[in-house]
Amino acid sequence: LSPFDVSAIRKDFPALHQRVNGRPLVWLDNAATTHKPHAVIDATSSFYSRDNSNIHRAAHQLAERSTALFEAGREKVQRFLGAADKHEIVFLRGTTEAINLIANSYGRQNIGEGDEIILTTLEHHANIVPWQLLAQQTGAVIRVVPINDRGELILEEFVRLLNPRTKIVSITHVSNALGTVNPVEQIIQLAHAHGVPVVVDGAQSTPHIPINVTALDADFFVFSAHKIFGPTGIGALYAKRHLLEAMPPWQGGGHMIKDVTFERTIYQSVPEKFEAGTPDIAGVVGLGAAVDYLMALGIPALAAYEHSLLEYAMEALATVTGLKPIGTAANKASVLSFVIPGIPNDKIAQHLDQHGIAVRAGHHCALPAQRHFGLETTVRPSLAFYNTHDEVDLLVEVLKKLPKR
Ligand code: PMP
Repeated sequence: LSPFDVSAIRKDFPALHQRVNGRPLVWLDNAATTHKPHAVIDATSSFYSRDNSNIHRAAHQLAERSTALFEAGREKVQRFLGAADKHEIVFLRGTTEAINLIANSYGRQNIGEGDEIILTTLEHHANIVPWQLLAQQTGAVIRVVPINDRGELILEEFVRLLNPRTKIVSITHVSNALGTVNPVEQIIQLAHAHGVPVVVDGAQSTPHIPINVTALDADFFVFSAHKIFGPTGIGALYAKRHLLEAMPPWQGGGHMIKDVTFERTIYQSVPEKFEAGTPDIAGVVGLGAAVDYLMALGIPALAAYEHSLLEYAMEALATVTGLKPIGTAANKASVLSFVIPGIPNDKIAQHLDQHGIAVRAGHHCALPAQRHFGLETTVRPSLAFYNTHDEVDLLVEVLKKLPKR
């Protein structure tokens, strides 16, 4: 078995090779967004330099090329997610837009007054607010699965919440605030036993865990390209075909219609029915390149290296006097949130920035998870497979020399 060659991999990421405040950049803000390999940058640039055209429209060379690239991107995402059918992949702006689509289309059609939506304490605001808006509009009720003090879901509470009024479960695969990996397979089985469909927010799992939506039996699965080393502003929704076919369109416009009169519109079939307007074609090309890049390296190998780095980092951080890890789930990915009582989180982040180390201090758009621990914010280093043991060592060394306030 050849060892994982992280220094070779780092050469693929130009943004990692810069100095910040006079120091080599240490990028530990991967849960917010990831850097892009040359393969993604080049594919996007080549699209604009050569192939740029709108899709599905004129019958000319560039439109044909552009359309072929766009549809190839769909097939790549299909393979990346292990979906059975490329028509089950809808391109959207990202996780946030995908959850809004599900809430507005599936939700409005299937969830009414008194019906229940199950979320968890671990959700990103993107998986809370769209459901809250739906609940306000329909009179549906939101139920929340609590967590324990390690940041793990209390599954017995989930089971207790399931009842004949439950109409949907929407749950993050990996918590962006705590790194907890949720047992989504088990949650899906439990929900399905009650006939309830499940939305999986894959924004933080797709960068770290091999995904197979068919094996998971997820009804909906959503993610953002920018978290998997692809461009910003593009992502995808996977949904079982029968669900997509039964759902009404959410946004109307060009590309999603077969025929329009002032009396009525005949829609395209799926997935085009959900892709109104000119899409982010270059984004899809870049997303496809990101998926190719990851699959060529081998996602299980990337995940194994990153997991061993996470374990190394957790042990190393434990040697920093006063540091309190937030989120100590048995099954974790990437995220190393902590606080050091007595030192404000933004001061810690600023001090790390002075040493070229980028981390986020804030609420990470997941306030309920933080508040479980009596906190409004944490400091959150988050790993990707291009991070190194040396970078973790530097983080710990700088934290050990933090000026006390
Ligand atoms: N869900 C989770 C778990 C996330 O981490 C994020 C991004 N921080 C989102 C949803 C929203 O993703 P986006 O901003 O790319 O739409």
